[in-house]
Amino acid sequence: MPEITHRTRTRKVKVGNLTIGGSNELIIQSMTTTKTHDVEATVAEIHRLEEAGCQMVRVACPDNRAAEAIPEIKKRINIPLVVDIHFNYKLALKAIEGGADKIRINPGNIGKRENVEAVVNAAKAKGIPIRIGVNAGSLEKHILDKYGYPTADGMLESALHHIKILEDLDFHDIIVSMKASDINLAIEAYEKAARAFDYPLHLGITESGTKFSGSIKSAAGLGVLLHEGIGNTLRISLSTDPVDEVKVCRELLKSFGLASNAATLISCPTCGRIQINLIKIANEVEEYISTIKVPIKVAVLGCAVNGPGEAREADIGIAGGNGEGLLFRHGEIIRKVPEDVMVEELKVEIDKIAQEYAEK
Ligand code: SF4
Repeated sequence: MPEITHRTRTRKVKVGNLTIGGSNELIIQSMTTTKTHDVEATVAEIHRLEEAGCQMVRVACPDNRAAEAIPEIKKRINIPLVVDIHFNYKLALKAIEGGADKIRINPGNIGKRENVEAVVNAAKAKGIPIRIGVNAGSLEKHILDKYGYPTADGMLESALHHIKILEDLDFHDIIVSMKASDINLAIEAYEKAARAFDYPLHLGITESGTKFSGSIKSAAGLGVLLHEGIGNTLRISLSTDPVDEVKVCRELLKSFGLASNAATLISCPTCGRIQINLIKIANEVEEYISTIKVPIKVAVLGCAVNGPGEAREADIGIAGGNGEGLLFRHGEIIRKVPEDVMVEELKVEIDKIAQEYAEK
């Protein structure tokens, strides 16, 4: 496997109050599913996304009505707003004027040089970046003609083509995505991009599927990239409520120790030794820790046979016993608690540890 560490070596790009790239943490993104011109519905959805842990949100801007809604949406949300435009430079100008914190547009697709210059100058004046979104499913015709079908080399060529247009105008606040629905293609394209340039990369497996299958597919593809040190922002694209996208993003980042603002649950798979209703307890504890903003690890185990030792990395945990629960910390049992209050006792301990962590 190639040793690539791109994330921490990228340029830094400001998006609203966030800095993307360099030593900064990976940022969780999602995209609204509402009609952007419906300000009430869009703002309500963005607030739900914010609450779930979304750190930057993208809205589609397919027409004037959507572009005209940007100032009001921007005023009513707390996270940076990315506006997604295809082909129409006038909509891009309107979105920038309206307060977009970043626009997603491919400069090679907006026609004459004056159009590109107008957008770049407006972005420069407002100090906002441009995301180039390469997508295997919509590569430029000349690239498809050259390669015959979407390839990673073709995707890289497309990215470099758009980058060059911006660089020629002395514009460097660039973020790039290299999305494909085929995970092998996406991985190869992102790896090539990581070797070719130092602009931050936004990760995604496009059209990955429903909540269940799409989460697995996205985690499989993006997991490889995260392991290689690639990616500065990410979105899980699912055919479901976008709040689920955010939850999956967080779980994925936690799996790699890349989320410093979320608690992790460790729970055993259960077996014939089980002495408590573990599935119910695990779900309850998972729900309880979902709002904790420090990286503590909480374990819930069905019995005390091997559990506490195996879950040694947990900050706090509980193992089922005969009519009782065993509270343990870093693999050592600290006390026994009656079964009927063990979850409540665990929650008290979780709060204490989270507090200790926050005060560190
Ligand atoms: Fe089985 Fe106990 Fe291990 Fe859970 S912790 S899988 S119940 S041995």
